[in-house]
Amino acid sequence: MKVRYSYLEQQFQDTEDLWQDLRKFVATGDFTLGKPLNEFEQRFAELIGSRYAVGVNSGTDAIKLSLKVLGVGYGDEVITAANTFVATVGAIAEVGAIPVFVDCDDTFCMDPGQIEEAISERTKAILPVHYTGYMADLRRILPIADRYRIPLVEDACQAILGAIDGKTAGTWGRTGAFSLHPLKNLNVWADGGVIVTDDSEIYASLKLIRNHGLLDRDTVAVLGCNSRLDTIQAVVGNWLLPSTHQITKKRITNATYYDKAFSALPEINIPPRPSDYQIVYHLYMVLADKRDELLRYCIANGIEAKIHYPVPIYLQPALLHLGNKQGDYPVADKQAKSIITFPCDQHLTRQEIDYVIQTVTNFYQN
Ligand SMILES: *Cc1c(COP(=O)(O)O)cnc(C)c1O
Repeated sequence: MKVRYSYLEQQFQDTEDLWQDLRKFVATGDFTLGKPLNEFEQRFAELIGSRYAVGVNSGTDAIKLSLKVLGVGYGDEVITAANTFVATVGAIAEVGAIPVFVDCDDTFCMDPGQIEEAISERTKAILPVHYTGYMADLRRILPIADRYRIPLVEDACQAILGAIDGKTAGTWGRTGAFSLHPLKNLNVWADGGVIVTDDSEIYASLKLIRNHGLLDRDTVAVLGCNSRLDTIQAVVGNWLLPSTHQITKKRITNATYYDKAFSALPEINIPPRPSDYQIVYHLYMVLADKRDELLRYCIANGIEAKIHYPVPIYLQPALLHLGNKQGDYPVADKQAKSIITFPCDQHLTRQEIDYVIQTVTNFYQN
């Protein structure tokens, strides 16, 4: 049996009604900003439970523009996780700021207990990452941010509809950044991103700077950039949005099924699953003994398991100028050697999941 990682072929097989929407849309010529984008933003805000949403051209830009409107700039420090996807750190660098890392804990997210020692006079934002769809513990992180009067920006790119105590990812910070990249849980047909916020001033600034700072056709209020969510992708987003809850539910069901089976294997270590968290499993990631051998065994048996990532971001060549060295973030280091990600998406069949479980079980039994 083959268990593929990417499900895009399956997801977009039956799209006749979307093509009809697209045909109608193309005939309007409403290609930048415009009606479908307004509608998408309104519906996205409703979905997340935020007051406002602003479509931008990627999740990376959702982070970058969030930092920009909060006044983060050259030489400022932004505290983030030592084990995130490169885009979090790339966005910090793009505004001229310096990433200051905090180690993760057994949730794969920033360890709240280590944030305070990373704060300096130059800290201008705290940027937790809801990694794998598991929310960073904002019940502990937000009070720290408030106490030091440092704005919190959530990298919620992997965490659409993730929640703690029913409060969704993206609604805790001054802004929340989402990605609509084809490999994310809510995915359009190209790059795309969304920023959510409850703050009307931040909202107004974001709308300005994603569109060249143009107040109207002839007035440049501030210098911005071109980071509009393509309106054609807003059409795709509008078509897809109603299925977000179903996608989330299916991923949670799949992950729960994996958890149950893997908890019988002493060689697999499952992260904590607190009952007041909604973990949305952008990645189904666990810790495994003999990880490299397990990975090879899975691939040899047709399962596209992955490692996110073998080298933590803080040790990547592009960041060595910051003076980080191996061992600075020991939990991230240790996890990099034992994490493994199994396919968990909404299009997997029960047979495929059973096959993954059986293959992993066979590996440890032999
Ligand atoms: C995907 C991702 C991003 C960036 O999103 P893009 O839409 O690809 O620019 C940022 N942070 C994290 C954690 C991500 O997974």
